[in-house]
Amino acid sequence: MNKFFGINNAHIKNINRGLVLQCIACNDGLSRVDISKRIGLTKMAVTNIVNELINDGFVVEKDIVHTAFVGRNPVILDIAENAPFIIGLYISRTKVSVVVTDLRLRLQYQNNIIFRHETSETLTKKIYELVDGAINNQKNKNPKSIPLGIGVSAIGPLDANTGKILNPTNFFGIQNLNVVGFLQDRYGLPVFLENDMDAAALAEKLFGVGRPYANFLYLGITSGIGSGIITNGKLYRGTSGFVGEIGHMSVSFDGIPCDCGNRGCLEMYINLPIILQQLRDVTGKCDIIPKDFESLSKIDGCNAVFEDTVNKLSAALVNATNMLDPECIIIGHEGVYLPNKYINYLQEHIGARILSSGYKTLAVLKSSFGEHAPLFGSACCVLQKLFEGYVFDAYKKGDTNV
Ligand SMILES: [Zn+2]
Repeated sequence: MNKFFGINNAHIKNINRGLVLQCIACNDGLSRVDISKRIGLTKMAVTNIVNELINDGFVVEKDIVHTAFVGRNPVILDIAENAPFIIGLYISRTKVSVVVTDLRLRLQYQNNIIFRHETSETLTKKIYELVDGAINNQKNKNPKSIPLGIGVSAIGPLDANTGKILNPTNFFGIQNLNVVGFLQDRYGLPVFLENDMDAAALAEKLFGVGRPYANFLYLGITSGIGSGIITNGKLYRGTSGFVGEIGHMSVSFDGIPCDCGNRGCLEMYINLPIILQQLRDVTGKCDIIPKDFESLSKIDGCNAVFEDTVNKLSAALVNATNMLDPECIIIGHEGVYLPNKYINYLQEHIGARILSSGYKTLAVLKSSFGEHAPLFGSACCVLQKLFEGYVFDAYKKGDTNV
C-alpha cells in the first residue's frame, strides 16, 4: 500500500544529526567545514549539531589542522572514546555470534556459541548468554560507555518489520522466532533485524568497498546463495522481505526442480556445499575447507570446478545486472575465498554479456570483511538506523534494563 508521511521538525533535526554523525563515523579527518560541504547544511547548522553531539558524548574535537591560511584553523572531529557502543548478533544455521563495535564499526569484543540440537527456548538462552557476556565485558572495559542498540542479522526467511525469523530450512524446525521482541523485553534497547545478506550489504555500504557506490549488489555464497541490493545509497527492501533471492533465479528454465517450486534455480547448481563436494570428488580428500581454494585452484580438476562455478554464477549475475544496472557487484560470505583470478574471470564474463557491455565497466569486488560481512552487518543494522536519525530519542530517554 502506498503511504505518504510528512516529517515533523523534531525528526528532521534527528535526520540531520544522523547525517553529521555518519560523516564523522564513516570518514577520517573531517572538520565542520568539510561536513558542511559534504551534506549541504550551512556551517552554522553543522556547528550547532556538532555541539549537541559533543554534549551528548558521541563526538570529540581531536586535532587542529594547521594551515598556511590566516584565521582559525579547522578542528578535526572524531567519535568519542566513551561514545555508546553497538551489539551485533549473527544467527546462522550452525552458530550464533556476537560482536561489540564502536560507532566506527571497530571491533571491541567477539564471541560465539555453536548449535547442537536447539529449540526456540535453548536458542533464546544461548542468545541471552552471549549478549549478557558482551555487555558485562564492555562494562568492565569502559564503564562510561553504554549500549545504544542491538542489531541482528539472520538466515531467512524473516520479517524485518515484525522482527521474526519465520521458517528457515535446516534450522531445527524452529519457526516464528520473535527475536526482536524477546531482546527488547530483556534489555530495553532498540533492536533491529535484517536478513544476513541485507546486513552484509549495509556493512559494505557504510564501511566497506561499497562506500563510493550508490547502487550495488552484494552476493553472498554460503550454504545457499543470496544477495542484498543497495539502490540510491539505501537498502532495497521489496514488499515483503523476500528480496534479492538470487539463489532462486532460474538459470535453466527446465532444469532441476527446487523446493521453492521453480526449476533450474541457481542454488541447485552452486552453493558452498556443492563446490566443496565437487572438490572432494576431484581430490579424494574429505577435509577440504574454503580456505583451501587458493591452493586447490592450481590442480586442473579443481580449476575446472571453479570455472564451472563462475560460469553458472555469471549467468545469474548477467540477469541481475540487466535488471538493476548496478555500479559494482561485491562477492562475500565464503565467496571471498574464491581466488582472485576467478573474480576477474567473473568480471570479464559478466562485462561481455550484459546489455550495457561497451558502455560501462562493471567492477566485481571482494567484501571488505572477509567471510564476516554478515556479522559486522548485524552491528550496521543499528548504525544505519542511527545515521537515519532513529535511535537518538531512545538513547536520550535512557530507560534501558542494562
Ligand atoms: Zn528455488
